[in-house]
Amino acid sequence: MTRLRAQDGRGADRYERTAWGRQYASADGSLREIWIPSMDSVKRDRPLPEIAAAAYVAASGVPVDMPYGERTQLPDSDGVLPQRVRVVGVGLGDGSTQVLADWDAAEAKRQFDAHTKELMSSAADGREFRPGQDCIRCEALSGCQAVPRVPGLLDASAPLRPRKRRSVSVSDLRAYRDCPARYYLTRVLKLRDGRTENTAIRRGRAVDAWLNERHAAKPATPCRRVPLPEYLPGLSAEELPAALAMIRQHRGRCPLDGLAVDETVEPQRRLAVYDPQTDVVVIADCDLVYTDRGGRVVRETKTASHPFGERRELVRTYPQLALAVLLMASGTLGGDPRRSRIELEVLRKDGARLEEIDPFDAVTLDQSRHVITELAAGWAADETYIAAPARDFDCTDCEARRWCPSARTARGDGALRTLGGIPR
Ligand SMILES: [Zn+2]
Repeated sequence: MTRLRAQDGRGADRYERTAWGRQYASADGSLREIWIPSMDSVKRDRPLPEIAAAAYVAASGVPVDMPYGERTQLPDSDGVLPQRVRVVGVGLGDGSTQVLADWDAAEAKRQFDAHTKELMSSAADGREFRPGQDCIRCEALSGCQAVPRVPGLLDASAPLRPRKRRSVSVSDLRAYRDCPARYYLTRVLKLRDGRTENTAIRRGRAVDAWLNERHAAKPATPCRRVPLPEYLPGLSAEELPAALAMIRQHRGRCPLDGLAVDETVEPQRRLAVYDPQTDVVVIADCDLVYTDRGGRVVRETKTASHPFGERRELVRTYPQLALAVLLMASGTLGGDPRRSRIELEVLRKDGARLEEIDPFDAVTLDQSRHVITELAAGWAADETYIAAPARDFDCTDCEARRWCPSARTARGDGALRTLGGIPR
C-alpha cells in the first residue's frame, strides 16, 4: 500500500494493491505463499505481470479484512514481513499444481517494478471507454456515451418480474439455441472441460489472429504487401498450408487495399448497446470496423471448409450479420448510410467470396429483425435454463456435459433426463 500526504493528480491519497487466493505463511513468518486457483487444470499461461503483482503483494502486504465499499482498516504495524514468497497455481479439477514464482522479497519487488508497475499506473490513468459485459453492473450506464440506447433491439418482452440486468451476444444466443443448459453452464458460469478443438476451429482462429494483427499494424498496409507467415501459433506443420492458402485468398479482398490513409481501421471492435425495453446490454464483437469515405463498414471474416452457401440467407446463416444490420440501421455506428455497409468475407483453401449487405435495404432489415427476435425470444424469458438440446445438437459435443445434471451419466443409465432446471 502507498499512503500519500495529500491527494495526488488523480485525486487519490491512498493506493491499495491486493491479491486474491489462498494465503499461507510459515510459523516464523519468513515464507509466504499465495495459491491461485483455476477451474480445471493449472492455468499455464498466466501473464508475468499478474504473477509479479501477486508476489509483491505477498512480499509487502499485511493480512486485512476488506469491508465492502469502505476503506480498509490497517493494523498499526506491518508485522513480520517475509524474506521469501512463492506464487503457486492450482487446478481445482485435477489437483495439479505449478510453482509460478519462487523469489526472495527483493526479487519480488524487482519483478513488480519491471513488469507490473507501469501497467498499473496506466490502468489508473485510463480514461477510455471499453464497454462490454461489465456494463451490466455500471451505475452510469443510462448516461454512458459509449453504450447507445436502442429500445426494442431484441424485440423481446420485458421481464415479468424484476431480475438482474444481463448482457448477451450472438454467441450466447447460439449457445442458448443449442441448449439452454449449455448456454448457462458455458456462457454464464464459464464451465468448459477444455477439450481440444477440432482442426477447422483452430485453423480459423489462427487465420483470424494473423489478420487482426496485420490490420492493426501502423502504418496500415494491405495484406498483399506483407509476406506470408512461416508459422502460425497453435497450428502444426501439416495444418499450416491450408491456413496459408486462406490468407493468400484474403490478399485479393483485404479491406485495406486502396483505402485512404486517413480512414480509421479497428480490428476486433466491440460494440455495446443497451436495450432498455428488456434491460439487456447487447454486445457485438466485430472482426473489423472501418471508415470508407464517410461511411462505416463492418467486415466479418469466416474460414470455411465447406462449399459456399446460398447468398440470400446470409443473415440467417450468420446471425452476427443480422445483429450488425440492426445496429447499423439504428444509427448507433454513425456514418453516411449511402456509404455504409456490412461485408462478409468467406475464405476457403481454394477460393474466397466477398458479399456486401446493405443494412438499409427493407427486406434485409426485416429478415435480420426476424433472425434476432427468433433467437432472443426464448432466452429473454427463460429463468431456469432447463436442458433441452436442439434436434441438430449432439450432447456428446457439449463441453459442459460433465456439469450438466440432465446429461447421460457415465454409467449410461438411459436417455437424457430433463428434470428440473439449474439453480440460478
Ligand atoms: Zn488484410
